[in-house]
Amino acid sequence: MELSEIVDLRPEPAAGLLVALTRRCPLACAHCSTASSMDSPDHPDGTRRTQLLRFVRSFTPAQRPEAVLLTGGEPLLLPGLAHELTRAAQAAGSRVALLSGLFFARDGGPVPATILRAITALDHFSASLDAPHEREVPRAAVFRVLAQVLDAGVPVSLHLTGTGPEDPYLAEATDAVLREFGARVPMLVNEVRPVGRATGLLPTAVGPDRAFAPGPGGPCAMAAWPVIAPDGTVVACCNQRAVDRRPVPPHLRLGHLAEDDWPTVRRRTLDSPRLRLIRTLGPDRLRARHGTEPAPGGYCGGCHALPDRPGADDLAAAGPAGRLLDQLTAARRRAEGPAALLRHHGCAPYAHLVRPGAAT
Ligand code: SF4
Repeated sequence: MELSEIVDLRPEPAAGLLVALTRRCPLACAHCSTASSMDSPDHPDGTRRTQLLRFVRSFTPAQRPEAVLLTGGEPLLLPGLAHELTRAAQAAGSRVALLSGLFFARDGGPVPATILRAITALDHFSASLDAPHEREVPRAAVFRVLAQVLDAGVPVSLHLTGTGPEDPYLAEATDAVLREFGARVPMLVNEVRPVGRATGLLPTAVGPDRAFAPGPGGPCAMAAWPVIAPDGTVVACCNQRAVDRRPVPPHLRLGHLAEDDWPTVRRRTLDSPRLRLIRTLGPDRLRARHGTEPAPGGYCGGCHALPDRPGADDLAAAGPAGRLLDQLTAARRRAEGPAALLRHHGCAPYAHLVRPGAAT
C-alpha cells in the first residue's frame, strides 16, 4: 500500500482507523504534537491491550476499515502488540500502516528483531523526518532503516514537518530524499501547529487550525476516520485538540474500547447527522445556520462548541439525503486526488511529493 492510496482514502467516512497505541516515546522532539514522553501514563496495560485486540478482531471482510494506521507516541515501543494488531486486521482484509520516529536507530545498530518482525508484517511503513527530529535521530540512520525496509518489500514514506512553505529545511530535506531514493519514498509534508510541545513555539498570528480548514466556512474532511486515543476513547476527528480533550464534545465522541466494537463505531461515524454536516457543510456554516455566535478558537474551536441540541439541519441530515450528500462530498474530494487534499491540509508547495514523479 503506497502513501497516495492512504491519502486517497482519507475523505471517505470510516474507510480508515487511526490507533494511537501509546503516548510514550523515548525521543524528545521539541515540536511533538502529542507532547509524548516516557513518563506519560497513557500506555496500554493488559486490559487495554486485550480491548485493542478485541476491537480489531471485530473487523469482518464486509465491515472493516480499508486502512489501519498505528501511531503514538511511538508505536514500536510495543512491537509485539503492533504485530498482533497487524495480523488481526489483515485477517479481515484491512491493510496496516505504522508511523515511527525510529528511536531504535539512534545508535546506528541493527534494527532489533522484534521491531523488524513488526515492520515487515506491515503493508506500509512511515518514518518521521524534520529538523527537531534530526537532533534525536540522525538523517543517515533514518535513510538506512528506510533502505532496509524497502529491500524487505514493504512500501515506505516519510512524514516531514516544517515551519511553513518558506522553511529552507523542507526544501533541503525533500531534495536530499529525492536524491537518495528517487520516487521510491513518497513524502507527506506538514506544517508545525501549536499543539502539544509545539505550543508557544509559533507566533500567535498562526491560527491553531489553519491547516484544517479548506477556506473560511469550508467542510471538514478530518471528521471521516475514527481515532482510538491512548486512553481507549474513540474520537471522530484526528485533530490533536479533539483527541486530547476530555470530555470529548458529544458529537465528536464515537465510543470507547471497553464498550464498543468496530461495526458500532463505523455505524456511528457514517450515520451521525452532526458528523455528516461537519463533513459536508463544515462547522462555520453549521454555526451560522444554527444562529450561533462565532466561538473562540477558530475553525475547530467553533466545531467543539457546536450546540448539543439538534437543529433543523441535523434532522435533515439524518435521512437518506444526508447520507447521499455525505457520499457525494467524499467522492468529489477523492476525484480531486491525494495531492489536492494535501494542498488543503498539508504544506501546499510539497503536496505533489505524495506521488513523486507523477504528473500533477
Ligand atoms: S475539531 Fe471539528 S472542524 Fe476541527 S478537524 Fe475536528 S471535526 Fe474538523
